Amino acid sequence: MALAFDNSYARLPEKFYTRQDPVAVPAPDLAVLNTGLAADLGLDTTELTADILAGNTVPEGAAPLAQAYSGHQFGHWSGQLGDGRAILLGEVITPDKQRFDMVLKGAGRTPYSRGGDGRAWLGPVLREYLVSEAMFSLGVPTTRALAVVTTGEEILREDTYPGAILTRIAASHIRVGTFQHFAAANDLEALEILVQHVITRHYPDAKGALGLLEGVIKAQANLVTKWMGFGFIHGVMNTDNMTISGETIDYGPCAFMDGFDPEQVFSSIDQMGRYAWDQQPDMAAWNLTQLASCLLPLIDNESEAALVKARAALEQFSVIYEAEWLKVFRAKLGLVRAEDGDASLINGLLTRMAASGADFTATFRALGNGTAGTHITNPGAWDSWAQGWHARLGRETGDTVAVMNAANPAIIARNYLVEDAISAALTGDMAPFFRLNTALEKPFDDVAEFADLRVIPEPSTKIYQTFCGT
Ligand code: AMP
Ligand code: MG
Repeated sequence: MALAFDNSYARLPEKFYTRQDPVAVPAPDLAVLNTGLAADLGLDTTELTADILAGNTVPEGAAPLAQAYSGHQFGHWSGQLGDGRAILLGEVITPDKQRFDMVLKGAGRTPYSRGGDGRAWLGPVLREYLVSEAMFSLGVPTTRALAVVTTGEEILREDTYPGAILTRIAASHIRVGTFQHFAAANDLEALEILVQHVITRHYPDAKGALGLLEGVIKAQANLVTKWMGFGFIHGVMNTDNMTISGETIDYGPCAFMDGFDPEQVFSSIDQMGRYAWDQQPDMAAWNLTQLASCLLPLIDNESEAALVKARAALEQFSVIYEAEWLKVFRAKLGLVRAEDGDASLINGLLTRMAASGADFTATFRALGNGTAGTHITNPGAWDSWAQGWHARLGRETGDTVAVMNAANPAIIARNYLVEDAISAALTGDMAPFFRLNTALEKPFDDVAEFADLRVIPEPSTKIYQTFCGT
């Protein structure tokens, strides 16, 4: 067994983690293996056995550990959290010298499990697989899914379900909450080590803590505009679920919207709408403010000067966000050039879509074939908008339809599709999972054989809530 591990996180001081082997499971069975990703990582698939992916055998060169972190959950300080059911096996170095964490999620209890069982069940594991891989195919920075094993164990949630383990790949699993962990303990030395580690790993051009902060702000502003452009709602943007690398992480109660409602929330525990679709930029900025506050003592010795610099960096969030948002939504309308009225043109469509509860994905996709008006219930409202849009398109020079079709997916991981795939998997039929997964690999193509997967759900099949019962 020779995975090319090089474990830089395990070389950090002991207070960054607890060394912990995965807890063995009774009957590991390989359910899904992402051979394309394995190839990109330079992994030999014959080495990715069920025993290894279940944690029953620890591969040579691995340094299994559970990471320590803290965080704010729904705006409240939770103190220490940490990997309660994820084990970092090690870091894989790809043939082109990139470094990725390989984590087993659902690998058993750790010192950070609190009341939890350290396990995951098949439903949420398949959901994370489908949605994270779909995000990757859409071009959204994200953690990846390498494999799913079933464990032969029964997992108790609202009912009992088959246990499963997801192998997750990420540039790293370092979070805003990792910084908060040491800031809360007033451990400047650890913070400095963490800053250095993250700069080396993710922001090699950054100069010090301020440069790092600026890098994360830019990465997160970019990320959230992509979420917005695909109608994606993360659902639990807690500081422990926001990566420093700028990758989407933690696919628990997330979902892509069907009918457009800017205030849409999916998570059953988000009663206040804190993480609604239209709140996501503000919540990202809130999390980044927490990161900035952790970094203050490293930004400048003089506290007033540190505040001024951190504030200036944080102010850039909305500047970058707005510029990226315009780029994302211009492309969705077929626009490449920039004009002053573009933001109000975009918002004009969004307002009409919201008033109609128009399907987010289907309406944007229909812009490219001239049928978008059918999704807007008030024809006058559509016509008044379309006039301005057509005039604006007339001032573009390139192939506007190609621009739209490259920005507006034909197929997304709709909740009802994901739920159907999970239901079938629970009866032992993995075919719908594999078919959906294949369809989501080419989200911008209208593939005839997948027409049924592009159907807009009836209101009765819309699933308005996803659960944290992961
Ligand atoms: P999340 O809401 O998934 O970001 O998780 C928040 C915290 O709960 C993290 O510390 C997780 O590791 C922990 N956690 C979630 N599910 C479990 C579980 N089944 N067993 C142990 N810890 C868990
Ligand atoms: Mg989490």
